[in-house]
Amino acid sequence: MQRIMLKTLLVGVLGLGVMNVSHAVERGIINNSQSPHVKLKSVDIGDCQWTEGFWADKFKLCEEVMMPHMGMILKGDRGHAYNNFKIAAGLKEGKHEGTNWHDGDFYKWMESAVYVYAVNNDEKIDKDLDEIIEVIGKAQQADGYLSTQIQLSDIPAWSNRQSHELYNSGHLLTSACIHHRVTGKTNFLDIAIKHANYLYNTFQPQPKELARFGFNQTQIMGLVELYRTTKDKRYLELAEIFINMRGKSKVGPDSTANFKTIGDMVQERKPLRKESEAVGHAVLALYFYAGAADVYAETGEKALIVALDRLWNNVVHKKMYITGACGQTHHGASSRVDMVHEAFIGEYMMPNLTAYNETCANICNSMFSHRMLGIHGEAKYADIMELVMFNSALSGISADGMLYIYSNPLRVLHGARDYSALSTETPDRQPYLDCFCCPPNLVRTIAQLSGWAYSLPENGVAVNLYGGNKLQTQLLDGSEIELKQDSQYPWDGVVNITLQKCKDTPFDMMLRIPDWAEGSRLAVNGNDANVALEPGTFATINRVWKAGDVVTLDMPMEAKLVVGHPRIEEVRNQAAIKRGPVVYCVESPDLPTGTDILDVYLPSDVQLTALQDDNLLGGLTMLSGAVMLRDEQTEDMYSSLEQPQWKHVDVKFVPYYAWSNRGQSEMTVWIPIVWK
Ligand SMILES: [Zn+2]
Repeated sequence: MQRIMLKTLLVGVLGLGVMNVSHAVERGIINNSQSPHVKLKSVDIGDCQWTEGFWADKFKLCEEVMMPHMGMILKGDRGHAYNNFKIAAGLKEGKHEGTNWHDGDFYKWMESAVYVYAVNNDEKIDKDLDEIIEVIGKAQQADGYLSTQIQLSDIPAWSNRQSHELYNSGHLLTSACIHHRVTGKTNFLDIAIKHANYLYNTFQPQPKELARFGFNQTQIMGLVELYRTTKDKRYLELAEIFINMRGKSKVGPDSTANFKTIGDMVQERKPLRKESEAVGHAVLALYFYAGAADVYAETGEKALIVALDRLWNNVVHKKMYITGACGQTHHGASSRVDMVHEAFIGEYMMPNLTAYNETCANICNSMFSHRMLGIHGEAKYADIMELVMFNSALSGISADGMLYIYSNPLRVLHGARDYSALSTETPDRQPYLDCFCCPPNLVRTIAQLSGWAYSLPENGVAVNLYGGNKLQTQLLDGSEIELKQDSQYPWDGVVNITLQKCKDTPFDMMLRIPDWAEGSRLAVNGNDANVALEPGTFATINRVWKAGDVVTLDMPMEAKLVVGHPRIEEVRNQAAIKRGPVVYCVESPDLPTGTDILDVYLPSDVQLTALQDDNLLGGLTMLSGAVMLRDEQTEDMYSSLEQPQWKHVDVKFVPYYAWSNRGQSEMTVWIPIVWK
């Protein structure tokens, strides 16, 4: 990584005279190094690398299978994403295929390839990306416009916000910034700058006919990241305009917005700063909030962060599943009675079987929290990042890295749903999804996750995520630090962090004590660290450190039964099983043949035993315990209560993320309790 940067630094400086690429920590995934309203700054991409255990295995799978396999699909005729650019570039005959947001999904895949390259330095990836970038450059119009679904159609640009042009823009800008940060090259960045200048000239005057534009607003994050890369303030100004425009127009169908996608569905019923609850399409909402958090990081506007705090609390404490998933319904209504789609609905309305929980929405939830972690410097945000990643994000891809699922319900029951009428929802994983937004979103997130593991406070280092890794970076004062983390987390709760190199003056080592980790112990060189350990906060050790110092965090990893708030009717008298950050489910391959998933009950005194299986689905810890089965066969909507004939059987529980890897199955996270 360092070697690549040195080689290409000169190219970067020459290519962009205004840039300050020499700053020590300027190449984070979120480059908040100069952001005035951020407490925890990002480490540079590649400075942390997974070495062993859970995320090292997932990264390896990403490097060897997920990313290249997906590239093969998207560059081939099935995925057709690259074809669209080639056709727009005049290099190929044909027509556009795929969704309106297919360009954006291709940029996400490119971003995943860049993260992999940042670790393995594989020249083939670099060369492949350069070839693709050349084609994208040829596809771009002379004025900077770029969105192949419009260029290859008769539909005028900016005529309907659902054409997703700005979504494609957002991913173009983000992907290009990441490519520049890792490679130092400006070929992709130049395309992004040309495009952003075009966007500025189009939207900055705020023409009346474009007042409601912005549908799935990834362009806000992309513009802020481009501002951070180039220091051109116009991009930040435009990002803020997209926030300010929202909620100012009269809500009703017009030529740019059809009746299904107005009002709360697209967060335009109220201006963001006045909004009191998370509404509408969950992906749209959470990308919007994440983008607004990026804007706050630069502007420090109080009204914005007050609103974002309110919305984060509303999501996490009133509308989020135990898996960190968001978007309770496929189709429904907001509390202000707008039609909504793939969306948040009312507080504590948490259906399991019909939960939508798009993989993207769950990832967006972690992206929003990632930004809030930087802004507030509080561990509770990293708790959500981790919760999502181990559960409702990772559930979007199969153990072999080649099959995908779009929606992440908490219960699946054969015959209960007509999937043919549900388009994006499927009863199990698929080799390709016609709406391909989620798979590359997940793969780019797995590829970048080492960049989330640590942050930099004013004087020291914060440990956000646990897992075997090594960190080689600079503290904000420029001093070098090297450490390694040894852990089999989340299967085991012991984390050892060994300092290998550091300055000789005192600094903070901040360790996240997860919100579930009551009773954790923290030691330095075997002696109690003697600091406050409050679950859901960072424990901070300040001292003079030296190479060879070992910090040991020991988190209790017993399986626990979790219940929901009494107002969540859908989980009344049910419990879920959680061990550390991992939510478990019971799945039909682990039940006696023919068992209906609804016939499984959990005795409240169930004894759960952890079983490590290194060969199952990439290696995981299962739980075993006795459940109670009843045979309840009725077609009646209501019937008299009768004493069940219980059967007691020992079963295994698998992590929720690992369901649907052993053929089509039934599954449930929440299980009715029999009180003992
Ligand atoms: Zn998606």
